[in-house]
Amino acid sequence: MENSAYFINLEDQYGAHNYHALDVVLVKGDGVWVYDIEGNKYLDCLSAYSAVNQGHNHPKIKQAMIDQLDRITLTSRAFRTDKLGLFYKKLAEMTGYERSLPMNSGAEAVETAIKVARKWGYVSKGIPRHKAEVIVADGNFHGRTITVISFTSTHQYKHDFGPFTPGFPMVEYGNIEAIKEAINENTAAIMLEPLQGESGIIIPPKGYLKAVEELCHENNILLIADEIQTGLGRTGALFACEHDNVRPDIMVIGKALSGGFYPVSAVLADDPVLGLIVPGDHGSTFGGNPLGAAVAIAALEVIEEENLIQNARDMGEYIMDYLQELPQKNILEVRGKGLLIGIELKHELGGARQYAEILKEKGILIKETSEHVIRIAPPLILDKETADWMLSVLREVLVTE
Ligand SMILES: *Cc1c(COP(=O)(O)O)cnc(C)c1O
Repeated sequence: MENSAYFINLEDQYGAHNYHALDVVLVKGDGVWVYDIEGNKYLDCLSAYSAVNQGHNHPKIKQAMIDQLDRITLTSRAFRTDKLGLFYKKLAEMTGYERSLPMNSGAEAVETAIKVARKWGYVSKGIPRHKAEVIVADGNFHGRTITVISFTSTHQYKHDFGPFTPGFPMVEYGNIEAIKEAINENTAAIMLEPLQGESGIIIPPKGYLKAVEELCHENNILLIADEIQTGLGRTGALFACEHDNVRPDIMVIGKALSGGFYPVSAVLADDPVLGLIVPGDHGSTFGGNPLGAAVAIAALEVIEEENLIQNARDMGEYIMDYLQELPQKNILEVRGKGLLIGIELKHELGGARQYAEILKEKGILIKETSEHVIRIAPPLILDKETADWMLSVLREVLVTE
C-alpha cells in the first residue's frame, strides 16, 4: 500500500498543486545519487536547483548539523551566539566582501538586497525619497515574493497576483544600450543574474557584464548580482561574475550555502553599502540562527576542501565537449558554464518535459528549464566515471533513439 502511487496521491489530494513534479518518490540521497521508494537509483542532475552542490547528505555538513542540534538551534537575533560571527568571518574570508546579512530563502535575500540598495540610493546617493529605481533584465528569475514577481517577465508568475511593487524598469538581457537608456538620476542599482538559469541557461554576450559594471561605476549605481543559483562553485568559479572579472557591489547567495540541509541565504557587500543598515532596519526571526550558521560554515568548507570549484570546471568542460560533438539530430544548442549546462532541443520535438520522463526511466533525474531546455546540473562532486555513464545515456536518448 505504501508505494509510489500512495505518496503521489497524498500530495495530489492534500497539497496545493504549485509544482508539476515528476512521479518519482525519493526516500534517500547519497552524493550524486538519489533513491526512490521502490529502491531504484538515479543520478540527480538537478541538485535541487543547485542547492546540493556538495552532494546529498554530505557527511561533514550532516555532522556539523548534528553537533549544533545537540547544543542550541535558535536564539533569534535578539541575542548573540558563538556561531554567527564565525559564519560572517568565513563568508568574508572566502568571498572578499567585508560584511554580510543572513536570511533564509533566496527570495528573501533578493528582497534584502533591494532594500539595501534603495537605502544606499537615498542616504548615500541622495535620490529623492520613494523614487529609487532598480533596473532588472527580462527573462530574470529572482524568486516568488510579490515584490520579486513585480519585475518578472514570465506571464504566469505574475498574471494573477497583482498589484505590484513599482520601481523596477526592465531592459533586454544582454543589451548594454538598453541599460544606458534606462539609467536616470534615480537609478540606485542594476540587478542581474550573470547567467540566467531558470530562463534556459542564457549566457549574455561576451563583455556585457563588464560593460554593465563600468556603467555602474560611471553613474554611481550599485551592481547587484543574483548568484543564488550560479554562485558557490556551480559554474567553475566561486561566483560566475569572476569569469568576466566583475565584482558586483552586492552579491546575493543562497541555495548551496547550506548544502541542502537548511534554508540559508545571504547578502554580501562592503561597509559603505551594508554598513548603512542599522538596528531595526531589517530582520528575520530565523536569519543567522546558530543551526543555519553551523551548517553554512561546513557547507562552505566542503566547497574549498574538496576542490569543488575546480571539479565543476573540469567536469563541465569534459561534458560540454562531449555534448557539443554529438550529432545534432535532436539538439539545437548546447551551452553552459562549469556544471550548469543546458541542452536546447529542437523546438519541433515539442518540449523537454517528455525527455525528463524518458531519462527518469533510464536512471537520470532532470527538470526542463524553460520549455525546450534540459538542464544538466549534477552535484559538483561528480566523478568522471559517473559523467561517462550519464553521457552514454544522454547519447542513447538524444541521438540513437
Ligand atoms: C532559486 C533562485 C532564487 C530564489 O530562491 P528561493 O530560495 O527559491 O527563494 C532567486 N534567484 C535565483 C537566480 C534562483 O535560482
